[in-house]
Amino acid sequence: MRTAGLHALDLIIERFTDSRTHPPLRVPSPDDLRAALDEPLPETGTDDLRPLLEHVTRDALGQATRLDHPRSFAFTPSTGNFPAVLADALASAHLSVPGAWMVGAGPTQLELTTLGWLKALLGLPEEAGGLFVSGGSVANLTALAVARDHHLGDDHSHARLYCSTQAHPSIARAAHLLGLPRAHLSVVPADRALRLDPAAVARRVTDDRAAGLRPFAVIATLGTTGTGTVDPLDDLADLCDREGLWLHVDGAHGAAAAATARGHGLRAGLRRADSLTVDPHKWLFQPYEIGCVLLRRPELLRATFDLAHHALDNGYLAPTDPRGDEVNLSDHGPQQSRGLRALKLWLSLKTFGAEAFRQAIEHGMDLAEHAAALIADRSELALVTPASLAVLTFRYHPADAPPGWDADAAQEHISRAVCAEGEALLLTTRVHGATVLRMCTINPGSTRDDVAYVLHQVVRHGRRSTGGLRKSSAPTDR
Ligand SMILES: *Cc1c(COP(=O)(O)O)cnc(C)c1O
Repeated sequence: MRTAGLHALDLIIERFTDSRTHPPLRVPSPDDLRAALDEPLPETGTDDLRPLLEHVTRDALGQATRLDHPRSFAFTPSTGNFPAVLADALASAHLSVPGAWMVGAGPTQLELTTLGWLKALLGLPEEAGGLFVSGGSVANLTALAVARDHHLGDDHSHARLYCSTQAHPSIARAAHLLGLPRAHLSVVPADRALRLDPAAVARRVTDDRAAGLRPFAVIATLGTTGTGTVDPLDDLADLCDREGLWLHVDGAHGAAAAATARGHGLRAGLRRADSLTVDPHKWLFQPYEIGCVLLRRPELLRATFDLAHHALDNGYLAPTDPRGDEVNLSDHGPQQSRGLRALKLWLSLKTFGAEAFRQAIEHGMDLAEHAAALIADRSELALVTPASLAVLTFRYHPADAPPGWDADAAQEHISRAVCAEGEALLLTTRVHGATVLRMCTINPGSTRDDVAYVLHQVVRHGRRSTGGLRKSSAPTDR
């Protein structure tokens, strides 16, 4: 165990120290990976784990895009952290299961403590509570299951819930999994600023009520994935108060910002949410998987999930019934057996301290603002959406673009050319129907130089694309 374990530790340390030495984008072909990894079921084992650890590190784990590369600005960058890796290993070794108190008392208390820290970090009220889940998608699903049961009971007919076109697809998937037909999800076009307009929601609620439908929930996004936009939480909370609707805030990307001085303004809205999704494996620098659902009235989780409400002939669970104030977290969410995801957040908060987290989050916001300032300084670049929660979008758009220049194709070309050089990862998204370049700068290891480098490459490849088009030849990929 020690020999193999120390070898695994070496491989882990190597992974944490070589982040700049590999290209961020790595997309091997299925053929190559099948050739390296497909083999028959191994009938016999081996005494030496070391070659297996090396093989799997090199040929499988290493054959993937590095979201932790300091010049990876696509998707939601991710860094993980070393204490968190040790925490996952320890939790795994202990078979820690914060399900029934009788089975996992210590792990359960650790999860409750860590939930308390997360609440304190984000400025949530004392009475809030929740559960760690696999990620933002399951947090959204869990919250909406509670909202549905609380407002609709067993009769889901004519139900309506509201979100904007900018909401994350996991919202639509959650509605589907909850048995709500697609038509029950009322998707409101985002306004010019890409926000969910409370007045537009209010009109739909009124019309829907008049038509005999049953509005029950509004989903606001705190930091849309594409542009980091924040829906007007306070106004939506007012609307929900007035109309007796559940307010779910999807803060998978952005809730972490409420930990910082700059994000304090978000707290009032968060405190008014009935439920909130936080995704520590995004902006709290945790390895996958750890998401979190928090509720203003956490006791409602049990109304939906308590195994007693779903009892079949399962007397074997009776011995785990709490006798006093013990908590069975298996009654608080969809999973019974569950890993101790809280330990990695616990250990990294204890190791680095909350202030280091706040600074790391602010660093991401600073970098995005720095990128926006650089873009404003370069006449060939145009900001499309401002730096918001460490996300910004922009275009290469020179004033002297030749007639007939295909701006959308140019952004795609620039993105491909930047990625092909193997030094950075920069992808596109669509805003108001146009293709734009998108940066998300939440990696604490990214520097101002990294940002400047990528913008410089954008201009360099952009100039080539206009030059190519002037000579009326298609832009070429390197
Ligand atoms: C990432 C994200 C999700 C989904 O979270 P997962 O952890 O990937 O399941 C949901 N909503 C928003 C706004 C997100 O950014």
